[in-house]
Amino acid sequence: MRTIIEPFRIKMTEPLKLISRDQRLEALKRAHYNVFLLDAEDCCIDLLTDSGTGAMSTQQWAAMMIGDESYAGSRSWKKFAQTVQTITGMKHVFPTHQGRAAEGILAYTRLKPGDVIPNNSHFDTTRANVEFVGARAVDLVCAEGLEPGLEAPFKGNMDLVKLQRCIDEHGPQKIPFCMITVTNNTGGGQPVAMANVRQVKQLLNKHRIPLVIDACRFAENAYFIHEREPGYKDKSLLAIAQEMFSYADAATMSCKKDGLANIGGFFTCRDDQWAEDFKNLLILREGFPTYGGLAGRDLEVIAVGLNEALEEDYQVYRHATVQYLGKKLAALGVPFVRPVGGHAVFLDAKAFVPHVPALQYPGIGLVNALYVAGGIRGVELGSVMFGRFDKDGREQPSPLELVRLAFPRRVYTQSHFDYLIEVVEEVWRNRQAVGGHRITYQPRFLRHFSAHFEAV
Ligand SMILES: *Cc1c(COP(=O)(O)O)cnc(C)c1O
Repeated sequence: MRTIIEPFRIKMTEPLKLISRDQRLEALKRAHYNVFLLDAEDCCIDLLTDSGTGAMSTQQWAAMMIGDESYAGSRSWKKFAQTVQTITGMKHVFPTHQGRAAEGILAYTRLKPGDVIPNNSHFDTTRANVEFVGARAVDLVCAEGLEPGLEAPFKGNMDLVKLQRCIDEHGPQKIPFCMITVTNNTGGGQPVAMANVRQVKQLLNKHRIPLVIDACRFAENAYFIHEREPGYKDKSLLAIAQEMFSYADAATMSCKKDGLANIGGFFTCRDDQWAEDFKNLLILREGFPTYGGLAGRDLEVIAVGLNEALEEDYQVYRHATVQYLGKKLAALGVPFVRPVGGHAVFLDAKAFVPHVPALQYPGIGLVNALYVAGGIRGVELGSVMFGRFDKDGREQPSPLELVRLAFPRRVYTQSHFDYLIEVVEEVWRNRQAVGGHRITYQPRFLRHFSAHFEAV
């Protein structure tokens, strides 16, 4: 088989600078050993997130120019709404400035203190929005999803037995909706099978609990279903996405992921009362319902991007890049979550630096080592990001300690990936030198963004 090439060529470049190792050490110290606090200029290969960091296509740049900036009922809004309706089949569409705004308004309008929201795995902002209104976010991913070394096709699946138990324990009246995140970002970017979404919906139907899809990577998930689930080989990614959404009552979306845009999000739903409540708070917080915190040109860009994300040659290339990295890391013996996810490779920090105790944050040590070694910026998804405390306020370790290397869409080439592999290899060979950290400052919510650390 021949090399899978990028299905695009580059017509605009952006310079990358690699500062020296000493400068990186100095920069990291200034950032209190938290890579979120680094200057982006000082990060040569920035794999902090795939969110809003992608490159737009010529079609998207062209669409920007025809953005209709009318306050109400703009042409761009109609194009946006029709695109979302075609993909999701849902009646109501509300643009928001990003995914978390959709989550926040949904949580505020539908949840009350004491409610329980099951999900395969809540993303950090989703969990924070659920908890902010006094509800409880519970993660019910299947057992395979908690075993980083295990190869399985759909490790993002919801555990149906745990879901049934959760409903029995709390009662459906305490569960205003259930969520499912596709792909399961927090659990390693692992996909959810169509059969699982269908079964979750069937189970919820028995208790009249609505299903909300966290759809950030719906197109990558559709491609996984296309590749791995029997019966979907001949279906288009659009048809697969449509079937997936047909099982949902609502969805939240960050268009900074599979919207292939640099900003934007939306909420979409079927129920008129949900829509009415959402709309009223949207006007208060984001803007008039036909722009909801976005410019007309953003709506245009997203309408084009959502369709481009469902193009098969784009997904073939996208997955090939991540799998290329996975293959090379496997050959080196580097521990990472198997199989690789759709948008990222998740290094298994627990296995990478087993000498660092969980509450000395092995993921932070590894992230910092990658930065110092090669100017690579990754992110910890472990005890810091998911910071959990028991009833007595004692910190609890996270079940997984991961370091996510997330890939911006259509941005880095194969030589960037080869350089990355060289840096990971160097850190792997010197892993004994990676040490623990302690927190010297942390805010109340989403502490990983702004916490300060020092070496133990
Ligand atoms: C990014 C993301 C969100 C939040 O979206 P923002 O646009 O960053 O606010 C929610 N859920 C998942 C799974 C995500 O990846």
